[in-house]
Amino acid sequence: MTERSLATVYGYPRQGPGRELKKAVEGYWAGRITAAELEAAAAGLRRAAWRELTDAGLGEVPSGDFSLYDHVLDTTVMVGAIPERHRAAVEADPLAGYFAMARGTQDVAPLEMTKWFDTNYHYLVPELGPDTVFTANPGKQAAELTEALLQGHNPRPVVVGPVTYLLLSKPAPGVEPGFEPLSLLERLLPVYAEILASLQSAGADWVQFDEPALVQDRPQEVLDAVAAAYAHLGGLTRRPRILVTSYFDRLGAALPVLAAAPVEGLGLDFTGSAAANLDDLAAAGGLPGKRLVAGVVDGRNIWINELERSLATLATLLGLAERVDVAASCSLLHVPYDTALETDLHPEVAGWLAFARQKVAETVTLTRGISRGTHLIAEQVDANQAALRARAESPLTHNPAVRARTTAVTAADSRRISPYGERAAAQRARLKLPPLPTTTIGSFPQTSELRVARADLRAGRIDQAAYDERIAAEIRQVLAFQEEAGLDVLVHGEPERNDMVQYFAEQLDGYVATQHGWVQSYGSRYVRPPILAGDISRPEPMTLRWTTYAQSQTSRPVKGMLTGPVTMLAWSFVRDDQPLGETARQVALALREEVADLEAAGTTVIQVDEPALRETLPLRAADRPAYLEWATESFRLATSGVRDDTQIHTHMCYAEFGEILAAIDDLDADVISLEAARSHMQVAHELSEGGYPREVGPGVYDIHSPRVPGVEEVASLLRAGLAAIPVERLWGNPDCGLKTRGWEEVRSSLTNLTAAARQVRENPTG
Ligand SMILES: [Zn+2]
Repeated sequence: MTERSLATVYGYPRQGPGRELKKAVEGYWAGRITAAELEAAAAGLRRAAWRELTDAGLGEVPSGDFSLYDHVLDTTVMVGAIPERHRAAVEADPLAGYFAMARGTQDVAPLEMTKWFDTNYHYLVPELGPDTVFTANPGKQAAELTEALLQGHNPRPVVVGPVTYLLLSKPAPGVEPGFEPLSLLERLLPVYAEILASLQSAGADWVQFDEPALVQDRPQEVLDAVAAAYAHLGGLTRRPRILVTSYFDRLGAALPVLAAAPVEGLGLDFTGSAAANLDDLAAAGGLPGKRLVAGVVDGRNIWINELERSLATLATLLGLAERVDVAASCSLLHVPYDTALETDLHPEVAGWLAFARQKVAETVTLTRGISRGTHLIAEQVDANQAALRARAESPLTHNPAVRARTTAVTAADSRRISPYGERAAAQRARLKLPPLPTTTIGSFPQTSELRVARADLRAGRIDQAAYDERIAAEIRQVLAFQEEAGLDVLVHGEPERNDMVQYFAEQLDGYVATQHGWVQSYGSRYVRPPILAGDISRPEPMTLRWTTYAQSQTSRPVKGMLTGPVTMLAWSFVRDDQPLGETARQVALALREEVADLEAAGTTVIQVDEPALRETLPLRAADRPAYLEWATESFRLATSGVRDDTQIHTHMCYAEFGEILAAIDDLDADVISLEAARSHMQVAHELSEGGYPREVGPGVYDIHSPRVPGVEEVASLLRAGLAAIPVERLWGNPDCGLKTRGWEEVRSSLTNLTAAARQVRENPTG
């Protein structure tokens, strides 16, 4: 190694310590501040972040990673791929046009939004077609680089790489669905070349191209495209040095391709399952003469690093490249800002946590250790080991009662007593539902009265008893409407719940809440995931009170509503000191107790939602079977303790199943409801072709739209469902919960739904 190591990160939270960006952006949308004031607020946030990063000891800071909404949308602007329908707005007012692409307007639909790999961040999907013309707009990148240089920093522009950009894109509306955006690579590369030239003119020494799409299984054509892209960009004469970064998993077959490319550096993730990059890099012959940026500090979890283990990894890496720098594994966008803001945290847990600011400090410490000698960081390493020991030995992470319960679990615990056929007969005898029964998914519209009640309670204007009475009144109203509409299986509407994960996390021991642990979900929307810090147990029933209250108000069955173990993990910061499957099993056992309590109190139908089952799929196909094994087992463990005649439902929020079809079967739920209205019941056909043997409720009311579907339309969807699923196994229900809809639409839509079901029962073929 000839050059001294430096510390860096690929990106930093854009929000600011107090979510200042959210306030500024929403202020601009509401017309409270001008475009110039928004730009000034954004510049102030960038200035403060760079100051903080340089002062903390980073040798290179990211620039261009800041975004008013989304960095993939910024890339779309950078390469001029503005969809036709937004072009006039962007030309008239670039800032307003930018937000129109993100959010839509009265007349024009926004870009589609989807998950950024397996994180909970959402990006705006570029829309491309054979007629797309790319043009270089390096303005934002060059301006932010100049800002950072003028403020005395050593910035490295961060740009979504060309291959990842195309792989994240989809065919524009009207383009044939088989169109491959990657076919536009040759057209896109000259635009990237212009951007490189302009960044060089603006003073960039290095440019970072993010290529996380290469950590997924990719066919040879894609690897060839990667080789061609970086041969082209690397062969340019007017360019800064190029660092190609990847994160979220191992590069696999793409690693030797990138290692051989004529670029000056690679950034690799060495955390979790990406640790395989270490052996793969050695096998590829290392990076002689090049720079390696080693992502050894996990950029996605919120736990302190194991410094000694990272030092050992770095020591091995030092022999594999000309220069080794230390980084977080990915942009710190995915973690909250600063643990120091948490004044109310469980004191024990506080010392185990590292948010963005703490992770920056860890990379600086590790860099000092490898470049100047580990004796210089002995104090930090000692403190780190003490904290890790405290965490490992804490009763919070090792609750003997919980451990005893999980080790006592047998294979029989995750199997229902009888096979489905016998259960179905017992449930028919007990529930006496008509053929084609109707139900809803769980939530009803959150009314302004409810929001007022919640605010009144928080402000002390009403006491708990008065608040509870408002909840009870809401439940009575929701039930009365459902009876009047003629629904068969009712719900209580969930007026008492803030969020389907948080509501349970707040009631389970082992979960910890933060006050300021916000992370960007999309645009100006931030979420505050609970921290699953310790062994999970249920001190007392969580849903019994309102479920039994609701059941006491009606003679029709009221569903018990729970959130499944996979989703409880997926939407939390989950512990990294034991396998996910073990954590899922603990959550499952807590839910199993809740299920038993509900059943004992007379609940005959219990729904356990797993909307996150698909989104948590590992990025690499080879890792999926093991994941699906524990994911489905934990669901069954939560739901299998019931009698044959208690009906278990589950719900998932999407229409494309593909590789999880077998896993859905493995859940062994008696009834599954899914999204299907937009795809005209396609999922019902897929399930039926896959031999799915149990009951199915493919959605017949698209709740993502304010449109009220007519009776004939719903009847036609139900008949389409009947073409795939026999009448004794088909349900009629909306696509998803009704929380985001208005009462007026919901009233008409559900009334039409039950009318359609009656019509189809009488006349199944139309
Ligand atoms: Zn849903």
